[in-house]
Amino acid sequence: MRKLLFLAVVIFYSCQSNKQENQNQKETLKEFTNPAPYFIDIKANDIKLGKPVFGDWLYSHKEKGQSFEQFMESKHVVPTKENNIVYLQPIGSFNSVQKKQIELVRQYLEIFFQLETKVLNQISNDIIPNHARRIGDVGQEQFLAGFVLNDVLKKEKPKKGIVLMALTEKDLYPKPEWNYVFGLASYRDKIAVSSMYRMKDETNPDLSLSRLLKICSHEIGHMFGLHHCIEANCVMNGTNSMPETDTHSIRLCSLCQRKLNSGFKYDNAKRLNELADFFKHNNLTDELQLMKKDMLSTQ
Ligand SMILES: [Zn+2]
Ligand SMILES: [Zn+2]
Repeated sequence: MRKLLFLAVVIFYSCQSNKQENQNQKETLKEFTNPAPYFIDIKANDIKLGKPVFGDWLYSHKEKGQSFEQFMESKHVVPTKENNIVYLQPIGSFNSVQKKQIELVRQYLEIFFQLETKVLNQISNDIIPNHARRIGDVGQEQFLAGFVLNDVLKKEKPKKGIVLMALTEKDLYPKPEWNYVFGLASYRDKIAVSSMYRMKDETNPDLSLSRLLKICSHEIGHMFGLHHCIEANCVMNGTNSMPETDTHSIRLCSLCQRKLNSGFKYDNAKRLNELADFFKHNNLTDELQLMKKDMLSTQ
């Protein structure tokens, strides 16, 4: 009799779990076939990418892109009750302009991903040993990006962290034969490092802020499962150089926004308004115009 009861319990549980699975499958199917009206409306503002020319990322990297279905079928991290905070880890000694920029990056990421974003106490450059440093081609000091990931960030486990990204003031290199790299990420460990070194533009601080916002949101977008975008001019486009980054939009195209929103479930109109406010307050007028267009299309 006891055996029978045990069996009944097992069957009951397995029915329960099948029911849950069916429900999940139904919801996933709905997401597949019916994009919410918001994404249909803003699609009108997507700008198709031109044919890649020599020097462009897509000229040398024949990428196939990632459909919404492929994204949904891929294994990617989504925020949970336990893990939902984005962390930034500054490494180095930053001047007052850079400190202000890090705080603006924090504010921006908080809006962009609609997740609480915190800046950890800064770490001194001394944490990088001599064997993970070198002098670059124009006399600048460079840090080995992999060392920052594996020997600095991997050891940190900030409370409720979902993604952890270091920001360095020094330049980075990925391996001895490479000249430099903007950043490096481990998607498995959800850690990344980006350098502020190449973002700066002495004559145009707004441009350097805009670059930093693009690079940071791009890198963290990868960690949430977004591949490079080939659909439209989009912040998830791959880039070979800073001039190429400058031609890329700070906006996620409608497809990439739909992918991101599938696991986050935030209010798109609220996010759009907050992004517009951020750009307005920070004199990023071209970026503000992009948000205004989306606002008009979704009214
Ligand atoms: Zn990328
Ligand atoms: Zn995109």
